[in-house]
Formats: sequence, structure tokens, C-alpha cells
Amino acid sequence: MNSFFLMVSPYLYEGGLKSKILMFVSLAFLSVLGGQLVYVTGGTYLPYVHLLYVPIIIAGFWLGIFTGIIFAICIGLMVGPFMPLNVAQDIAQSTPEWLLRTGFFAMIALLSGMSAQITRAYLVVLKRRYLTDFETKMPNYKGLEALYKDEERFAMLTGVVVIKMRQVKEVEKAFGLETMSYVAIKTKERLKEVLSPETVLGRVSNDAFAICLENKEEALKVAQHLSQYLERTYKFDKIPFLIEMYFGIMPHVKGDSDSFRTLVKKALVAADHGLQNSLEVCAYNEETQDFSERNIYILHELREAIEQDQLSLNYQPIISLNKNEVIGVEALARWGHSTLGMVSPLEFTRIAEQTQLINPYTKWLLKKSLSQLAQWRKDGLDFVLSLNFSMKNFEDPTVVQEIFHYLEEYNIPPQMLEVEVTETAIARNIGKAADILQSLREKGIKVAIDDFGTGQSSLNYLFELPVDALKVDQVFTRSMLDNSAAEAIIRSAIMMGHEMNLKVIAEGIETKKQLEHLKKLGCDYGQGYYISRPMPVELATTWLDAKRTQLMKIQA
Ligand code: C2E
Ligand code: MG
Ligand code: MG
Repeated sequence: MNSFFLMVSPYLYEGGLKSKILMFVSLAFLSVLGGQLVYVTGGTYLPYVHLLYVPIIIAGFWLGIFTGIIFAICIGLMVGPFMPLNVAQDIAQSTPEWLLRTGFFAMIALLSGMSAQITRAYLVVLKRRYLTDFETKMPNYKGLEALYKDEERFAMLTGVVVIKMRQVKEVEKAFGLETMSYVAIKTKERLKEVLSPETVLGRVSNDAFAICLENKEEALKVAQHLSQYLERTYKFDKIPFLIEMYFGIMPHVKGDSDSFRTLVKKALVAADHGLQNSLEVCAYNEETQDFSERNIYILHELREAIEQDQLSLNYQPIISLNKNEVIGVEALARWGHSTLGMVSPLEFTRIAEQTQLINPYTKWLLKKSLSQLAQWRKDGLDFVLSLNFSMKNFEDPTVVQEIFHYLEEYNIPPQMLEVEVTETAIARNIGKAADILQSLREKGIKVAIDDFGTGQSSLNYLFELPVDALKVDQVFTRSMLDNSAAEAIIRSAIMMGHEMNLKVIAEGIETKKQLEHLKKLGCDYGQGYYISRPMPVELATTWLDAKRTQLMKIQA
């Protein structure tokens, strides 16, 4: 129904003078034709006179009540004193009869005009709703687009700044759906305080606002001003929370070929790019566009790569620094794409994490790595397998089920699997992380905190987390020998880890000196290029076999 009204609306209330004159003349012609028909068919005693309601209704509806009534009176007169009741017998109409008929005609014109007015008013409301954001009462995307359809106005536009909010879904989940409406209204008020009064504001999606700059305002300056002065803390039910905001900029130069729609799209791409790369203010350029296209392309290709088993795993050994024994192997994903080349697992897992694709990916990872571990176990190679997980993985309960399913299928004791989750991922939702990791640990699976030392400034959270090991990030290992602060971090991680009964693993050992120093510091385990690079499965098998033989020789 709504779409019908929107379709007819231009005809209903945007008809210009020309079309009104045309309508007027057509209706006048139709009326005279109707009068002729009444006459040639024999007079008003026959029902043809009712045909004349048609031009009256149309006139009332399209040309308004006044014109409708004029039409009604003229037609009433035409088929009144000037029209016999019966042409053949030349019987005239009685005056009350044609007067009454003219009265009916006028009434119909009035009703038709009134219903047109109601319809028009409804259409105005509908159009306003269509162009306005329901919650903030600001123009929405369509509203802004309609505003800049006007060429003169569009020429005044100097740029678009898009504000993209992060953690919107998390906030909605934590406080309820209505929170976002509160956040949006509050943000609108704050924007109005910070921006000049004539700035045009709109809400282009649930988590994005657009600021349209006119009067020579510079997009970059406005975005920088906002990034500095726009308040980002909100309070709901007395609980304060923070919403990160990213500002995407797209300047507009008069005469540029970009449409308004393209300008907003580009500003959105820039804001997204900023969000992905932690750049609060980010201007659009070809690179950002390439980036968003690359993301979409990767997402598309990755789906296929998973389905067609085109991904592979490399395995990197983890050894005990004291005994030089292999205690574990970390599986690291590899994807060589025909046109993109090698795509880093950091890049594609981050992209997959933003969609449901992370779940089929992780299921693939579980199947591939656990079946390999089962094979190694059959061949007498026994160690813990470490797998990298993102917290997003655990949002799908079937992923956890799948872990147990494969452990059972391949007959692998749960303690032979270690789940690595990064410190930053845990810090985002510590309560939830603790619950999930606890449930894994209860079943015997080991838990390690990956990239330890890079994410969280406070270490208190460690006490809340059920973990078995800390993997100290490679940046500390790399600079440990020349940088006393890095060494202090490793030293305290080892001390604290041991205090809490955790194993400490140093990542990124590249030299003998680093390995020896870590040994001296009391670090339990190590991993890095000095020990071995991540290897494809055949090489890893040979390496692990050789290592076992070497160890057996030493023991013998
Ligand atoms: P990570 O888990 O911290 O893995 C260690 C990364 O350091 C690996 O990079 C490894 O190749 C590299 N590395 C190991 N030893 C050395 C060294 O001595 N020197 C240097 N410079 N680098 C070393 P890679 O394979 O590119 O993986 C990067 C990250 O991607 C991983 O960091 C992990 O967070 C993520 N990742 C890899 N595979 C998966 C996966 O299957 N799922 C998920 N969610 N993430 C994965
Ligand atoms: Mg890892
Ligand atoms: Mg790491």
C-alpha cells in the first residue's frame, strides 16, 4: 500500500500548472461529451446522466474542492435547465429536480476534494517518514539524498564526514535494543552542540551518522574537531559505557562527477577503513577503496577456498627450553590465492570473524588439524596441538560441540589440545571469555593466552581467567637483549606465571642468544625460527621424527 502511494504521489501533489490546465481542459471536454451523450440518448430520464459524476469526481480529486464544485455547478446547469427530461417528447425538467441534482454533484465534488486532501496529507506524512530517521527525527540516507537532488544545493557541498560507531551490537546485547535509540538521540544532541548550527546532519544507518558540509567548511578540520570534542561516553541505567567512533572523510569539489550517493559511500568506506585499522580520522583515497574491495573479494574467495579445501596448515614446534624436547606444535593457517598470492592468516581470519564464515573456517581447522594429530599419534609422535581461536568462534555453540566431536572421533585425549586466544580478544569481554574458557578447561582442554603483554595494561584479569599457559609476544623476545623494559616484562611474566602455576612460552625466538637468555630467566617453553619455522605437514613430520630419534639417542 505504501509503495502504491509513493508511486502515485508525484501525480497527486507535484502536478505543476501545466498538467493542471491540461487536466482542466480534458475534464471540460469530457463533461461536454457526457452532456451530448445525455442529449442524444434521449434526455435526463435515462441513467446516462450518472456518467457525469466521473469528471466531477476527478475534478474534485485532482483540481481541488473549489474547482470540483465549479465543475459540478457547470455540469449541473448543462444537464439542468438546458437539457430536456425527454428530448423526443420535448418535456422540460422541473427546477427542483435539476437543482437537487446539481446539489448532489456539488456534494460529490466536495467529498472527492476532501478525500484527496486527506490522501495528500497522508502522503506528506508518509514521505516525511520515508525520508526521516524514526528515532532521531533527522534525515536518513534517502532524506539527505533528496535534499541534495537540488543541483544548486549539491554544488554548495564541500564534503561529507561519516561517523561510524563501534561496539553497537555489543551495547545492544548488554543493555537491550532501546539503548541504541538513546545513543543515537544523545549523539545527535552532542553533534549539534559541537557543530555549527547550519551543518546538515543525517543518520545513514543504525551505527553511522553523516555530516554534510556547506559554506566552505573543510571535512578534515570538522572531523578532527569532532574527534577531539565529541563526547563518547554514555550512561544507560546508571551504567557508563564507551562507544568508539571513527570519522570517514570525503571532500567534494564543485564539478566533480561523484553523485551524493557516491560521496556518502566513499566516506563510509573511509570510516570502515579507519575502524579496521584503528585510525580515528581517515580520508577516502583509492587505497581505502581497494581495501574494502579486497575485503569483499577475500570473503568471497575464502568461502570457496574452505569448501574446496584449498587452505593448508603449517606446523611450528614448541619445545621445552630445559630439555630441548618437543612439547607441542602450533597449527598456523596458510592460504595461497591464485591472484592475491599468500594471504596472511591475520588478515583473512579478521575478515572472516566479521561474518559467519569464521565458523565453517574453524570447523575446517578442527577437522584438518585434529585428523593430522591423530595420524601423528598413530606414528608414535605425541605432543599437544595448539590452535588459534578468536572469541567470535565461541559465539556459535556448535563450534564447541565440534571440538569435542572431533576429539572423540579421532580418539584424542582433551589434554592434547590447547586453545590459544589472544589477550586483546579476551579483554573485550572478560566475563564471557572466562565462562567459555572455564567450560573448555573443565573438559580437560588446555587454554593459553596468546600474544601476552601486548593487549591489556592491567594484569588483574589473569586472576579471573582459567588458563594453563602464557605465550609472551614475540616483540618482547626480539628486543629483550637490547631493551631492559622488554626484558623486565618477560621476567615478570615468568615470575607471575609461575606464581600462578602457569607455563610460560616465549614466542619468536630467532637466535641462540635469545634462547639462552630465556633459559636463564627460567622460561619454560619456546617457539621461533631459531628452533624451527612453521612447516608444511610432510616437513613437520620429518622434523618431528628426527627430533624424536635425536632425543632417544641422547637418552640412550
Ligand atoms: P600467533 O598465533 O601469535 O602465531 C605466531 C606467528 O608468529 C605466526 O605467524 C608465526 O609464523 C610467526 N612466528 C613464529 N616464530 C617466529 C619468529 O621466530 N620470528 C617471527 N618474526 N615470526 C615468527 P603467522 O603464521 O603469520 O600467523 C599470524 C597470526 O595469525 C597468528 O599469530 C594467529 O593469531 C593468527 N592465526 C594463524 N592461524 C590461525 C587460525 O587458524 N585461526 C585463527 N583464528 N587465527 C590464526
Ligand atoms: Mg598463536
Ligand atoms: Mg602469538
